[in-house]
Amino acid sequence: MFSLKIPQNLKVSRTAKYHNVLNPDNKYRLSLCVLCGLLLIYNLSVLSCERPEHSRADVALGTVCTVTLFDQGKSSIYNDIFKRISEIENLMSVRIPTSDISRINAAAGIKPVQVHEETFKVIKRAVYYAELCGGAFDPTIGPLVSLWGFYNDNPRIPSQEEIDIVLPLINWRNIELDPETNSVFLTQHNMTLDLGAIAKGYAADESARIAREAGITAAIIDLGGDIMLLGVKKDKSLWKVGLQNPDEDQGFTIGYLQIPESSVVTSGVYERFFIEEGIRYHHIFQPSDGYPVNNGLLSVTIIAKNSMDADALSTAAFVLGYQKGRVLIESLPSVEAVFIFQDYTIRTTTGVNLVITDKSFNLLTTELHRVF
Ligand code: AMP
Ligand code: MG
Repeated sequence: MFSLKIPQNLKVSRTAKYHNVLNPDNKYRLSLCVLCGLLLIYNLSVLSCERPEHSRADVALGTVCTVTLFDQGKSSIYNDIFKRISEIENLMSVRIPTSDISRINAAAGIKPVQVHEETFKVIKRAVYYAELCGGAFDPTIGPLVSLWGFYNDNPRIPSQEEIDIVLPLINWRNIELDPETNSVFLTQHNMTLDLGAIAKGYAADESARIAREAGITAAIIDLGGDIMLLGVKKDKSLWKVGLQNPDEDQGFTIGYLQIPESSVVTSGVYERFFIEEGIRYHHIFQPSDGYPVNNGLLSVTIIAKNSMDADALSTAAFVLGYQKGRVLIESLPSVEAVFIFQDYTIRTTTGVNLVITDKSFNLLTTELHRVF
């Protein structure tokens, strides 16, 4: 159905040992869930006692997308959903030269670019979150992702000089939006937008909308770990969503969330990374210093009504770190978070229903002001 190429200079690692010194022979190890390429691999695995009548999986948005429609899963609905995901990818992917995002990037510092209203809407939401979290989430992160080699699957540690050159380009304030014409202008040459931290969420919301409008009463939409749980199960019990062990192979869970209809999105160090001299370098960047975030967290999972918001917030809270991230999440109605730390402790916001099954992880109830 599709083929996945592994670049020769990369090794695929499915054993993510974050803080251990690794065999120096394994100089570069990159774990991409897409490269692993198995349709059964999820960042989060969804557990359910109901058996789906139909399920379809495909590669899109740079990841494995799996849609499970319970009871009335007709092919035409699956077709519509995957067509929609592909449309969104064609508009918003930085890897597609004709996408709106690529066109905006090519015109950076030159002229505004008129885009599809959907692209405009997602960029506007990204800017909203950038402002809300003081720039920890920043959709102009593109030059850093590119410098570290996460676009071309050839990752490397750049020199400080190289980082210093691109850092001034990372600034969401230099995005100019014109809602009259749906135009977007990046004011500096060489700026680039990257919606990698929010577009999958939008695609999950759109997929859920299509399923709902087609009369589907229960569905699981899993776009590479951006999960939408739609409706209620036949037995009316809560959905159970496995939480990925961020320090293990994909599919190993530390426990599960019990939730009603919601979106569950995780940002973690295990999604795309390479290891050099025992240090893990992953794909989520601290815009202030240009390095992969290193704040004691392995992952942040957000539970929210809407997947676009959950996606942006998981990245934002991960970059902000536990204290600031938790304050942000607690300030938002109907949004919850699970923070997993390098020392295998877990902290959650107050409304989370989490069952831990892996006893090496410790759920702490420490008051916010006493942590760190
Ligand atoms: P996620 O897995 O949703 O946290 O998104 C990670 C992706 O978002 C990365 O692969 C980058 O493309 C992009 N990204 C990395 N760091 C940031 C950041 N600080 N703000 C916004 N997007 C980011
Ligand atoms: Mg995200």
